[in-house]
Amino acid sequence: MTDPVPQDPPAYETQAVQVGIPRGLGETVGIPVHAAAGFQFETLEQGAEEFQLGQGLSYARIQNPTVRALEERLTALEGGAATVALATGQAATITAIMSVCRAGDHVVASSSLFGGTAGLLNNVLPLMGVTATVVPNTPDDVRGAMRENTRLVWAEIIGNPAGDVPDLRALADIAHAGGAVLGVDATWAGPGYLCRPLEHGADIVTHSLTKWAGGHGTVMGGSVTVGEGHDLTRNAIYTEGGDQSLLAVRGVNALAWRQRWFGAHQLGMVLSPHSAFLLAQGLETVALRMDRECATALSLAQWLESHPAVGRVSYPGLESSPWHALARTYLPRGQGAVLTFEVPDPARFLARLKVLRIVPNLGDSRTLVVHPWTTTHGRLPEATRRAAGVTPSTIRMSVGLEAPGDLQADLAQALA
Ligand SMILES: *Cc1c(COP(=O)(O)O)cnc(C)c1O
Repeated sequence: MTDPVPQDPPAYETQAVQVGIPRGLGETVGIPVHAAAGFQFETLEQGAEEFQLGQGLSYARIQNPTVRALEERLTALEGGAATVALATGQAATITAIMSVCRAGDHVVASSSLFGGTAGLLNNVLPLMGVTATVVPNTPDDVRGAMRENTRLVWAEIIGNPAGDVPDLRALADIAHAGGAVLGVDATWAGPGYLCRPLEHGADIVTHSLTKWAGGHGTVMGGSVTVGEGHDLTRNAIYTEGGDQSLLAVRGVNALAWRQRWFGAHQLGMVLSPHSAFLLAQGLETVALRMDRECATALSLAQWLESHPAVGRVSYPGLESSPWHALARTYLPRGQGAVLTFEVPDPARFLARLKVLRIVPNLGDSRTLVVHPWTTTHGRLPEATRRAAGVTPSTIRMSVGLEAPGDLQADLAQALA
């Protein structure tokens, strides 16, 4: 047998525990927490230079070494060029959208959306003169919704909570043909683990790090990662001003620069260094957790599908899912840890659970269930809820790390 050849870059599991950690005599083995609001200059010149170039450390709203180490790790895991880590997934989403849209611009978004993203499109973006058209995420629907002023196509992999899987390559081609970029909220795929949207043509990837990155339900965070190959030559935010334009001055870094400037520097939605530390630690076990959770989710989905008291089960790993073929293409390692199923009496079902917990969160080490109709999707119009695959009977379950047998037994007694 020959020795294995070192991979460059190393595999996901290796980068997840190595990137961002210093090497050398007396260095910490984990990522140190820099509890600091400001960083020292020794001379007037150093301060002036830093404020002009903004490449080092000055004030923690702009950069903090702990947050930077997390950002490096996320960039590596996502296969991207640069990342800005922010306070929440919500902060990441609005930063991604506003990095390419301004008053007069238009977004095409998938109808199977996280409720908070639908809220931004419906309530916040209109205040800034940005409009959105929400359509099913099929290539034909998205193509039909594109307008002259569309700057962003937005999709989720995997869709919440219907478990739909968009054809990322087709959506990227449609966005690019229209002079727009493709943004993908890949929260449900874990940072770069089940899917790397940038490798399928996406320009921007966001995460709610609160979910699988943190992985234990103990911390909030969000991230925006950009790839290398995006084309912003048809977006006036980047081209206006000719020689002085963002694109002329910042080149390939223009998009990443604007995201940091917008989300952190201007709006101040920064991640605390303590949260960055917890999130970096969470990333070290994403691969192990997601492998286990995807396997349990698939076996529970198959069992629920055969249960006489259970109605429709949606999980992209099931052969019965309309998105099964796309899931095989885009989620080859596992089809996620979340499934939905319909029960005849959701109130009775939830009240009887003993192991599973009723919590409106995802990606926890514990298995969490929620009734989307009255909670996560409760504020959306009824038609919007139904378009997202939510009915009054729907239960959403985020599978955790408990023994699969204990989970199945608890579900069985609650359904009895
Ligand atoms: C939770 C979630 C968000 C928002 O993240 P927060 O950290 O709660 O702000 C965005 N997108 C998806 C898919 C989510 O599950």
